[in-house]
Amino acid sequence: MGTVYLTGAGPGDIELLTVKALRLVKEADVIIYDRLANPDILKEAKNGCEFVYVGKEDSHHTLPQEEINEVIYQSALKHECVVRLKGGDPFVFGRGGEEAIYLKERGIGFEFIPGITSAIAVPEYAGIPVTHRGVTVSFRVVTGHESHKKDHSQIPWENYKTDDTIVFLMGLHRLKKITSKLIEIGKPKDYPIAVISRGTTKDEKTVVGTLENIYEKAKDLPTPALIVVGKVVELREQLNWFEK
Ligand code: SAH
Repeated sequence: MGTVYLTGAGPGDIELLTVKALRLVKEADVIIYDRLANPDILKEAKNGCEFVYVGKEDSHHTLPQEEINEVIYQSALKHECVVRLKGGDPFVFGRGGEEAIYLKERGIGFEFIPGITSAIAVPEYAGIPVTHRGVTVSFRVVTGHESHKKDHSQIPWENYKTDDTIVFLMGLHRLKKITSKLIEIGKPKDYPIAVISRGTTKDEKTVVGTLENIYEKAKDLPTPALIVVGKVVELREQLNWFEK
């Protein structure tokens, strides 16, 4: 039986892969990878390494999670070094915990290899710091998805009245709902917000606006994209570097 390495691939830029993740990619007998993991990483694998794509779109899954779990498990029965490569970090809306529990219940050993999460690195490439002294003292990372809860949101919107930075992942298709909700709880209509598409890659594009106008400006951006809400967005005027 092999060991499964639940490995973060970083947000897109291949150089944001950790040294440890790169070592495991080079040693892997099989790499099971997602849509958001940069496929160029696979070029680092050894000859004969097997590749299994289990990509997921934001809202519909190519393979149901249970089947992905089973693919990983079966690979671990056949191979010594199994790398499960995921976009960003395995624990940030990455279902790394679920996959590990499935393996644990079947007696398979696993390790977690943290990755650089898009939630911090993508705003960073856009020149938006998730915290900044004198501007905000904390940040939240929130799912914009909630597909299984159509009418009842699990998000504690009332807590979001503060100036904490809020990063919404998987939220582009719910942008209108998100901005309406933030205005409804009392945030000013001209409150700063940014949408960043394909962050840390050569296709990165950032659109800055207000809660009132961002939907019209950003709704057609390609995915993956994330949403940043907060006064830190204004710092982009000085800190924008990558898109120049
Ligand atoms: N585990 C991942 C996040 C998985 S959820 C991480 O830590 O980064 C997938 C969501 O992440 C996407 O819907 C999008 O909101 C965001 N995302 C991932 N990569 C991105 C990128 N390069 N640019 C913009 N958003 C990205």
